[in-house]
Amino acid sequence: MGIELLVNLSYVAAAVLFIFGLKMLGSPATARKGNLVSALGMFIAVVITLLDQSIIDYKWIIAGIIVGGLIGATIARRVEMTGMPEMVALFNGFGGVASLLVGWAALYGFEANTFEMITIILSILIGGVTFSGSMVAWGKLSERISGKPMVFGGQRVFNILLIAAIIAASVMFTVYPEAHIYLYVVIGLALLLGIMLVIPIGGADMPVVISLLNSYSGLAACAAGLAINNIILIVAGALVGASGIILTQIMCKAMNRSLSNVLFSGFSAVATGGTAAKIEGEAKPMTAEDAYYVLEAAASVVIVPGYGMAVAQAQHVVKELQELLEKNGAEVVYAIHPVAGRMPGHMNVLLAEADVSYDLLLEMDAVNPRMETFDVAIVIGANDVVNPAAREMEGSPIYGMPVINVDMARNVFVMKRSMASGFAGIDNPLFFKENTRMLFGDAKEMLGNIIKAFS
Ligand code: NDP
Repeated sequence: MGIELLVNLSYVAAAVLFIFGLKMLGSPATARKGNLVSALGMFIAVVITLLDQSIIDYKWIIAGIIVGGLIGATIARRVEMTGMPEMVALFNGFGGVASLLVGWAALYGFEANTFEMITIILSILIGGVTFSGSMVAWGKLSERISGKPMVFGGQRVFNILLIAAIIAASVMFTVYPEAHIYLYVVIGLALLLGIMLVIPIGGADMPVVISLLNSYSGLAACAAGLAINNIILIVAGALVGASGIILTQIMCKAMNRSLSNVLFSGFSAVATGGTAAKIEGEAKPMTAEDAYYVLEAAASVVIVPGYGMAVAQAQHVVKELQELLEKNGAEVVYAIHPVAGRMPGHMNVLLAEADVSYDLLLEMDAVNPRMETFDVAIVIGANDVVNPAAREMEGSPIYGMPVINVDMARNVFVMKRSMASGFAGIDNPLFFKENTRMLFGDAKEMLGNIIKAFS
């Protein structure tokens, strides 16, 4: 069997493993295995690529694998679960810059035809936008730069001119490939475009932006694959590009927004503008012991976790409370909002860590229609995703966003440390509702106190 046939067959096997891996990632029950299957596909792809006859020196490749592997492993071990979105932003950015460099390197060593020149330009352009855009997203999420939308007069016109300049420089470079000045202009302007596209978007929308940038990094890899004629890079890039855009759409839907609304209008500009009416009223605090008396008599309980559960690392005590309630004869389910926490699937991952059965995790659309039937809704460190202003207050920046309607349950217990707002920075009328009681304190401690009362 010729080496080329072996390489191509292995690439097909790797592509099949990627696709099956992705499919398995779609369900929590098979996600772990899916991750391993995809990783095996990537391992095969990397090993086979290293067999490529045109590699003339392995020294730098080995050095790159060792240094990159060590940095990646160290960061992955150290990162807190709540810091994952920032890490994904960095990954996307480095994926983008890798495609930029692959595209750039493809210019050397062979005469590119027009099609190849276009793919090279695309990988450089999309890779550059992905890199600088991801760096800004990382800065906003990690609060190294302000999360507020940065807008200035004439920004749209500036962006349009920027895109026109990129197109002009790209065309010039395709026509005169020996004039590298055009290439440097494309790289510089692409980096600037990435920054310009992300700075007007507020911190609250960064998850959507990161998911979109993830899709861009796939497209950049796909273009780089076309530039160097590498089938597996094309396939992997296309898969990342497609899954990134699907996730982006799911997130937009969960926030009841269109993608163009996220990218071009100012949700956050509105949010920081504070057009929502001031919410007034008196919150009614209660003790863990009082909560116990109500829970002890409850026949059905819905638990709604949010970012605060992640901060408090309360997932294990939540599971303990669930078991106590079940032993007491109550039905217990969890209601999971698609953007609860700080990354897609954040709550699912935490609850899986505590061995909560997947069957008990209900999506928002499944739980909302039967919300009136629950005796108690326990909100654990969630705020924006249970904010009824999304339904009731037309002026609110989150008006129209689908939320978990906990206020419709018979009793609502809200566990949080203070009256502070959540990620979107807006007040929550839930805290002042007639059927709401506030359990002020750290979620883990508060749950521990309720558990103590049970035993
Ligand atoms: P929120 O950010 O709206 O609210 C979290 C609440 O948790 C806060 O109000 C805080 O109140 C409370 N909290 C913090 N620490 C503790 C603790 N130790 N014990 C108890 N409570 C605590 O979270 P949600 O999950 O409701 O909503 C997610 C928000 O994040 C949405 O706006 C979403 O758009 C955004 N987002 C989502 C991402 C995703 O992909 N899932 C990624 C990035 C952002 P207090 O300080 O009073 O304790």
